[in-house]
Parts: sequence; C-alpha cells; structure tokens
Amino acid sequence: MVGAGLAGALLATLLARRGWQVDVYEKRGDPRIQGFQGGRSINLALAERGLHALRLAGGDDEVMAQAVMMRGRMVHFLDGRTDLQRYGRDDSEVIWSVHRGELNVILLDIAQQAGARLHFHRGLASVDFDRRSVAFEDDRDGSLHESAFESLVGADGAGSALRSAMNAVSELGERTDFLGHSYKELEIPPTSDGGFSIEPNALHIWPRGRYMCIALPNDERTFTVTLFLPNEGDPAAGVPGFDTVRNGEQARALFERDFADALPLIPRLEHDFEHNPKGLLATLYLDRWHLDDRAVLLGDAAHAMVPFHGQGMNCAFEDCVALAEHLDSGADRAAAFAAFQAQRLPDSRAIQAMALENYLEMRDRVDNDDYLLQRALELR
Ligand code: FAD
Repeated sequence: MVGAGLAGALLATLLARRGWQVDVYEKRGDPRIQGFQGGRSINLALAERGLHALRLAGGDDEVMAQAVMMRGRMVHFLDGRTDLQRYGRDDSEVIWSVHRGELNVILLDIAQQAGARLHFHRGLASVDFDRRSVAFEDDRDGSLHESAFESLVGADGAGSALRSAMNAVSELGERTDFLGHSYKELEIPPTSDGGFSIEPNALHIWPRGRYMCIALPNDERTFTVTLFLPNEGDPAAGVPGFDTVRNGEQARALFERDFADALPLIPRLEHDFEHNPKGLLATLYLDRWHLDDRAVLLGDAAHAMVPFHGQGMNCAFEDCVALAEHLDSGADRAAAFAAFQAQRLPDSRAIQAMALENYLEMRDRVDNDDYLLQRALELR
C-alpha cells in the first residue's frame, strides 16, 4: 500500500484483520514519533459514512473520545446576528469535528495492532509493473529500497505518485478541474479561562456571497477557521480575492469589513495569514481506477474533491470498506478491483458534484430568507 494517511491506514487495518499480508509505505516520518506534519486542514467533519468504517476497523471509540459534536451550521450574518440551522431533527443526526493528526495516529496504531507492517520515510519512486517490483526513496538520505509486490494500492492522496506511474503504462482518463478559489487556515484560541470562544457544538459559517469563512471546533478548545476566497477578486463588485488580499494587513481590513464578529476572536490573524500556506481546491476525475490485478487507487488518489461537503475523507473511508469486501468476495484480484471501481466510481462522482454545489449553498444561500423558510418547513 502506498500512503499511510487516512485511507491507507484504515484499509491496512481492515485487510490485516482479514488475514492479508499488508506492507504500507509512507513518504513522511512516523507522526507518532515526530508529530503530525499534515500541512492542511487541521480538522475534518466526520459523518456517519466515515464513522461506519471506523466501527468496522475497531477505531471508533478512540476517535470519538476526541471528537466534538456539531449539531448544525451556525450562520453569522453581516450584522452580527447568528442562527443555528440544525442538520437533523435532534442530536441523533449530527456530524463530528475530528483532528486530522490525532485521527491519523489512532489509525496507524490500530493498523499496526492488526498486523500491518508500516514503513516510514518511503516515498514511491518508481514502479516496474511487468516485473512487479517497486522502488521507494528515503527522503533523509536519498537511498532507494526495492520491494516485490503482488498488487499495489494507491492511497497516496491527490498528488498520487502511483497514479502517475499507472498513467504512464495505461491511460486512466485523468482530468483535474481547478475551482479558481483557494483557502487559508487561521486559529481561534481558547478564552483566557480555557473555554471555547464561541458555541462549540456547531460548524460556524460566515457566508458572504462569492466567498466565505468557516470554523470547526477542536477538542483542545480552539477553532480552525478557513477563509475561502476566489483567486482573483472582483473589485468593482466588492469581491475580495487572494490577488488583492495578499498580506496580514489586507486580511485584517477584509475581516473588519466582512467578518467583524470573528476578528476579535483571531488575535494572530496577521501571523496566521502570512505564515500558513494557501491551499488550492480542485476536483480530480479518472475513468479508470485500476490496472488489471496489479494496482488500484482509492481515496483522494482516485477522486479528490473540493471540501465543501466535508465528505472527502468519509468517501475515502467508504472506499476502504468496499475494497476490503470485494477482495473478500472470492473473485480473482482483477475482477475484485473492477467490481470495486464499478461500485465506487459513480458514487464518488455524485459526491464530487454535491461538494461543488455545496460551495454555492454555504457561501450564498444559508443566509437567504427563502432558504431559511424552506429549511424550517423541511424540518417540521
Ligand atoms: P491523504 O490524507 O492525502 O493521505 C495520503 C498519504 O499518502 C499521506 O500520508 C502522504 O504523505 C502519503 N504520500 C503521498 N505521496 C506519497 C508517495 N509518493 N509515497 C508514499 N506516500 C505518499 N474530508 C472530510 O471527510 N471532511 C472534511 O471536513 C474535510 N475537510 C477538508 C478541508 C480541506 C481544506 C481539505 C483540503 C480537505 C478536506 N477533506 C475533508 C478531504 C480529506 O482531507 C481527504 O479526502 C482525505 O485526507 C483523503 O484521504 P487519503 O488517505 O486518500 O489522502
């Protein structure tokens, strides 16, 4: 398996528990030793789809012990009013905010306990599909390490190196659509007495038409704020973009104008804005996810999506369950990979489309009176 991120570690657990021999190669170091170095989206919304997979892997109790419940969207209007829009009728229909680094550490632990062998500092360098031989590079000294394989699983994320290697021998029909919007993460620290600064059990949204901010709670009582802006603003229409909001001072001016109630909550706004990387947003489409019985892709490597439905990880976890079940079916490996693709490719396309639609909904509709009336009627 290539990649010991969220999908790689979960699938390794599911397969090792079924008695498969699994070796997982991860290009980064072990986050349990050197701390998590994710570099993007500090926390994630975990929904029932993902939770179901965690239950099957036996990781749900530990994950839920650090999860923060989000029972709905807390919409922050321009005038400072707020409105909680529940996701369901009651607290049986909620989503959960989980810390990406803590989640990854839990998943690595359970994968190892299940018998998967984890190899860190092993970035995929090259694959010889004819000889079924793969080479990994150690990022510390550049040394190369070869291994034989029966099948490779690509859980190495949106920039998948395995996908590139597969594409080189057989076209996968790859297409990437960039959204034209990017994001920056900022932090709301705890209050001076160690509490949450705003309502903890909600996903906060500051919708502003063509752009927005969101904030998800963390169990250490901080919030991770994500500012989504177009790459190119439209000054004539008063729409900011990352081309006009380029430094901390300009970010402060934007917050003073558009997110005034959030501004006092983010004391290190300038620092965060200038030091945190800008993340790109894109949707990845493939026509094929496998190369006969030799390689298969899943998670972001197969279908990266924009984050507005909070379903990328949840969908990746569903892939893991589906692939483990198809491999168990007794079909030969190539047929199992084909059946997995036939099941999950249309599902992932649907979720990708909903994720794109939800950007419009979150940034432009949740503060709209007609929308609020419709939601109220739906929930009655
Ligand atoms: P990744 O998590 O990217 O893991 C890939 C792993 O492979 C990494 O450990 C990486 O180091 C390793 N790797 C990469 N290249 C190599 C190589 N060459 N060799 C070996 N190893 C390699 N999803 C949700 O469900 N809910 C949310 O709320 C949510 N919010 C998000 C917010 C943002 C801003 C973003 C960007 C994404 C969000 N997502 C969310 C999506 C989610 O992050 C991804 O869908 C999820 O991480 C996919 O898991 P993965 O294991 O496929 O890939």
